Amino acid sequence: MPEIIVVGSGIGGLVAGALLARYGKQVMVLESHGIAGGAAHSFVRQGFHFDSGPSFYCGLSADPDSVNPLRQVLALLGEKIPATAYDPLGHYHFRKPRYRFLAIEMPI
Ligand SMILES: Cc1cc2nc3c(=O)[nH]c(=O)nc-3n(C[C@H](O)[C@H](O)[C@H](O)COP(=O)(O)OP(=O)(O)OC[C@H]3O[C@@H](n4cnc5c(N)ncnc54)[C@H](O)[C@@H]3O)c2cc1C
Repeated sequence: MPEIIVVGSGIGGLVAGALLARYGKQVMVLESHGIAGGAAHSFVRQGFHFDSGPSFYCGLSADPDSVNPLRQVLALLGEKIPATAYDPLGHYHFRKPRYRFLAIEMPI
């Protein structure tokens, strides 16, 4: 029987659940969607991968002094995720070919 039930498996719910479990609580995370991750999940259609929400994360790569809260949570949990530093910032890295993400201003 869980001591704590977290409703929602977005980054917030997963962080709360993982930290509570890290400190010894019995946690259950409930999710109404078919995929965990909330706004930050992804999906595949006809071989193309889509981000449902965020596609820009800063502070998750090699810098051990990063102040990114998610990076600090992952360090506390002893978890590592693969991350490639933006170089230059805003330049997305795909295996092949290489695309550049451009911000454009649209006339109103
Ligand atoms: C289009 C878009 C682009 C974004 N781009 C970026 C970006 O580039 N960089 C960045 O850092 N951030 C970005 N963000 C913000 C970031 O995605 C969110 O701040 C973060 O994912 C929110 O996490 P959360 O856990 O607070 O909420 P959510 O991700 O919304 O998670 C809530 C979860 O709770 C579930 N839920 C709700 N009600 C119930 C219920 N009654 N029972 C069970 N489950 C329930 C939902 O299904 C969902 O899975 C973007 C967001 C969007 C929408």
